[in-house]
Amino acid sequence: MKHTANLPGEFELIARYFAPLARGFPGAFGLLDDAAVIAPAPGHELVAKTDAIVGGVHFLHDDPPDLIARKALRVNLSDLAAKGAVPRAYMLDLMLPKTVTEEWIAAFARGLAEDQNEYGVHLIGGDTDSTPGPVTIAIMAFGDVATGRMLRRGGARAGDTVFVTGTIGDAALGLTVLRGKSAHLDPKAAGFLVDRYRLPRPRVTLGPRLIGLASAALDVSDGLLADLRHLCEASELAAVIEAPRVPLSTAVRAALATDSGHMTTVLTGGDDYEILFTAPSAVLGELAELSRTLDVPITAIGRMQSPSIGKETRITVLDESGEPLTLDRGGWTHF
Ligand code: ADP
Ligand code: MG
Repeated sequence: MKHTANLPGEFELIARYFAPLARGFPGAFGLLDDAAVIAPAPGHELVAKTDAIVGGVHFLHDDPPDLIARKALRVNLSDLAAKGAVPRAYMLDLMLPKTVTEEWIAAFARGLAEDQNEYGVHLIGGDTDSTPGPVTIAIMAFGDVATGRMLRRGGARAGDTVFVTGTIGDAALGLTVLRGKSAHLDPKAAGFLVDRYRLPRPRVTLGPRLIGLASAALDVSDGLLADLRHLCEASELAAVIEAPRVPLSTAVRAALATDSGHMTTVLTGGDDYEILFTAPSAVLGELAELSRTLDVPITAIGRMQSPSIGKETRITVLDESGEPLTLDRGGWTHF
């Protein structure tokens, strides 16, 4: 690495802030070697996932560093959860502009420590560099899944029900609050939505329990409709969603009451980090039981069906009277 001017040297930084996060994981060698070793539990394989977040794109420059760290980790844990994996460890690539202070890094590491406690994962290595661009954080996370059982996007069957966990649209509306575009919301609702944007709650307890029940799964990061489209494409199917069944928080309902135009944001906005999955009706009872015991809301929002021949339409969204809705955006895409 090349370190930045107003920070302690590379090894000092790693020893002070990152090596403590490797304690308890022998294969990390205290971050004193070139690389780490990690083996899955017997009968399992490792699921690996990396996701980068960039200042100005995925978070705002004055967001609290501990929350930035936790979001960077959690978006990866969300992917592991949606694949049915139990999180074990992660690596951290940090690209820092020269303006970053040691206090910022200390707070960033504190955020990681907090989430390591919450999710039982360890930091096992990484890289640190300076950049002329914004703060960029790439995390690679590893989790265990029973060999051959990772939940895939492409396993859905026609007739399967489409389910989603939690509530949809909170984070996207939270971002509109941060951008000063939802001034009509009361402070409590606005605060709830901003929190949902800044701190995803990856469904780590539910994900592994969906193995054997879900036919296909992915996490909702790009937006409900965009991610459902990914699942449809991988499964070579179409889907019908009933908009009134999409689970909404009290805060989102309040926002919709003042401006029904927010419904597009709800259906197409990103950053929910809930699990979208499909399952046959035979497992409905088991899913209801799981939802109760884990205290994770699971809502049926539609069904999978064969695509109509010669038609591009993968997803139909029906309104309260069963009429198809037209949306101006199919969801957030980067390019
Ligand atoms: P190399 O010179 O071989 O690229 P480094 O000197 O960058 O390795 O890193 C030394 C050790 O510190 C390695 O174990 C590496 O994984 C770890 N490390 C470096 N940066 C970070 C970081 N941001 N988070 C966690 N571990 C890190
Ligand atoms: Mg080396």
